[in-house]
Amino acid sequence: MKDIDIYELAGNVLSSITSDLNESIYSELNGKLSLAWSPDPSVNAWAKSEGTIDEPPIHKICINYELVRQLYRDIEAFCEYLESDLDKGAFDFWFQDFEQPIEMLPSIFTSEAHRKNTFIAAITWVFFHELGHLKQEHGYIRSKFLNYQVDLISECNIEDSRLIEGKAAAIYHVTEMAADFEAVDTCISELIRHFSGEDLKAAIYLFVCGVSSTLYRFHGDKSLILDNVPGGNHPNPLTRLENIIPQIYEFLSISDLHQHIGIVLDRKRILGICNQAATAAGLFWLRCRTEKPEIPDNYFLMGNLNRANGKEYLCKIVETWDEIEPEIKALRRFGHYYGVLQFSQHTRDSIFSKRKE
Ligand SMILES: [Zn+2]
Repeated sequence: MKDIDIYELAGNVLSSITSDLNESIYSELNGKLSLAWSPDPSVNAWAKSEGTIDEPPIHKICINYELVRQLYRDIEAFCEYLESDLDKGAFDFWFQDFEQPIEMLPSIFTSEAHRKNTFIAAITWVFFHELGHLKQEHGYIRSKFLNYQVDLISECNIEDSRLIEGKAAAIYHVTEMAADFEAVDTCISELIRHFSGEDLKAAIYLFVCGVSSTLYRFHGDKSLILDNVPGGNHPNPLTRLENIIPQIYEFLSISDLHQHIGIVLDRKRILGICNQAATAAGLFWLRCRTEKPEIPDNYFLMGNLNRANGKEYLCKIVETWDEIEPEIKALRRFGHYYGVLQFSQHTRDSIFSKRKE
C-alpha cells in the first residue's frame, strides 16, 4: 500500500467514527467532537478538551499522518515476519500446550486482510484511547491533582518525561491505563458488531497484534524493566498489555454476551489467542531492536503481580486510581460500565498482603 492510500484509509475510517459519535452522542450533549490531522513528523496523537467541565464537551483528537504511516509499515513488517516462520521453533515450543494450535496468522483471512484488519484495529484503538482521555476529562484530572495546568494529553514521550516522577507519574500512568481500558471496551464492542463466529476469533487475534505493535512503537527503545514506582509519562507496553489482556478475556467470557452473539467463546482459547498475539508482537519488536535477540527475563506476559516490582508498582497505581476514580465517574458523560478501569479483588488482596509482609 502506498503512503497516500494509508492516509486515505485511516482518514475514511476515523472520519466515519467521528461523524457517528457526533450524531449519536455529542449532539445529545450539545457538544462536538472534532478530528484533526497534523503533518508533524513525530509518531504521535493527542487529545484536548476545550471549555470547562460544566459546559457541553468540546473535544478534539489530533492524529499525525506519520503515526498512521508508521503503524501500517510496522504491521506490514510484522505480518511478513509471521509469514516467514523465522521463529516457528520458538513459537511451537511456547505454545505447545494448546490442544488446538492457533495459527500465527488466521487463514480465514487473506494476507491483504491481515494487514488491513490489523491496521484498522490499531488506529481505531489509538482513536478510542484518545477519546477515553476525553471521556474521563484527564486534562482536568491531571491539572487538578497535580496543581498545574495540563492542556494537552499527548502519546509521544515528551522530552522531559523522565522528570515526571512521584505522584505526577502515578497520575500519568493510571490515566493512561484508564484510557487503554476505555479503548479496549469500545474496540471489542465494535469487533463484536462487525464479526461473528470464527471471523470474530480471528479479528480478536489481529486486534491484539495491532494494539501490541502500537504500544511497542510508542515506547520506542526505552527499557521494558518495571520500576517499583511509576516514572515518566507512560507505563511500558508490557505493563499496559498486562492491564488490558485480562480485560479482553474476562469481558469475552461473560455468558450473557455469548447468548447475545450466539456463540460460546472458550475462555482458555481466548486467553491463548491474546497471549500468542501479544507474545508474537513482543518477539518481533525484540528482533527489530537486535539481530540475534536473547530474550530477557520477564519479557513476556506473566501478569503484573508476578513481575519483579509488580506489586509495589501496582500498589501506587491502585491507590492513585482509588483517589481519582470518584471524580472521574462523576465527570464521565457517556460510555459502558465496562470501560471504567477496575482492579480485581485478587489484585487488591495480593497488594495488601505484600504490604503487610
Ligand atoms: Zn494516552
